[in-house]
Amino acid sequence: KMAKKVCIIGSGNWGSAIAKLIGRNAAAYDTFHTRVNMYVYEEEINGEKLTEIINTRHENVKYLPGHKLPENVVAVPDLVEASKGADMLVFVVPHQFIRGLCKTIQSNIKPGAIGISLIKGMDHTDKGLQLISDVIRKALSMDVSVLMGANIASEVASEDFCETTIGCTKEENGQLFKKLLQTPNFRICVVQDPNTVEICGALKNIIACGAGFVTGMELGDNTKAAVIRLGLMEMMKFAKAFFPDSPPEIATFFESCGVADLVTTCYGGRNMRVSRAFVKENKPIEVLEAEMLNGQKLQGPETAREVYKVLKTLNIDESEYPLFVSVYNIFFNKHPVPSFIECLQNHPEHM
Ligand code: NAD
Ligand code: 13P
Ligand code: CA
Repeated sequence: KMAKKVCIIGSGNWGSAIAKLIGRNAAAYDTFHTRVNMYVYEEEINGEKLTEIINTRHENVKYLPGHKLPENVVAVPDLVEASKGADMLVFVVPHQFIRGLCKTIQSNIKPGAIGISLIKGMDHTDKGLQLISDVIRKALSMDVSVLMGANIASEVASEDFCETTIGCTKEENGQLFKKLLQTPNFRICVVQDPNTVEICGALKNIIACGAGFVTGMELGDNTKAAVIRLGLMEMMKFAKAFFPDSPPEIATFFESCGVADLVTTCYGGRNMRVSRAFVKENKPIEVLEAEMLNGQKLQGPETAREVYKVLKTLNIDESEYPLFVSVYNIFFNKHPVPSFIECLQNHPEHM
């Protein structure tokens, strides 16, 4: 059997961390072609191209400084060239860029190629909710699994022990991606409930913004725990409401993609940190994102906006999801941050 060619589409903070694991496994196993192409959105850093820096110094100095990438991971600035002939595509870009990237490679996909999305976010259409994996499936007509979990990129790159979840529709594809991605300190459970896995990954970023608000207001850990729990209840309700034909398995919420990712993101994630600063510094969220993250992107505020649009499109009562709606209103409608607590005080869980 021919070794499978792997292409990583994306090279941000998470994309670079995952490239470290994939590069090593691709070199170690005959199943995979040793060379791994990584599509890098080109930019100049002090007059040098980022792709050249990665290919000579083997470090993504902008998005994952301090970690060496394996030398068999090759940065390629042209997406069509990077993905040419790939059997396995790993999608790991901020969700706002996925549509454009899919369009670019639409007519160049190798027949039989399979994908996995590591993207935590959401999209909408005039019919309502659209998952990011749906965007990829529709554009590229391929089987798409998802990987979501309690995985802050820098900690994964440092190889601190953690877990993650792959959600797949085809077990063999899920297992093949598990082989590509699992390491002794990055343990993977494969489940056949991909929609729930992906919904968890997307929605937890909104909840993390709420956790940032209460941290910024200097409320304690009890409050943060309540935000996590009420957020989880909204997440479960949302998954049930939006996938009536494939109801979520409750067990999926106890995989790494569920409660565990909520905990890590609500304590240490970027969405939490920037939302905390939003309370303290009274600047627009885009300004803080640019000031604090050096080109990295927040997914929580945009996902809150997508969820709000979906609720409106489908005429769902806002009071069903007070936490999600409040995060949206605080970022985009200038609602005062303390109104977040009022929303929680009137949560349907207590009525
Ligand atoms: P990031 O936040 O570091 O985003 C920056 C990336 O976006 C850079 O690679 C940059 O080149 C690229 N970019 C900027 N403008 C672009 C454009 N116009 N077109 C294409 N690319 C452009 O990215 P990330 O941390 O790798 O996140 C990717 C996804 O992974 C997100 O959905 C995120 O939620 C998820 N995720 C992140 C982490 C984490 O800890 N960073 C962990 C798990 C999941
Ligand atoms: P942030 O984007 O909030 O840093 O979350 C990263 C993440 O998804 C950890 O699992
Ligand atoms: Ca190999």
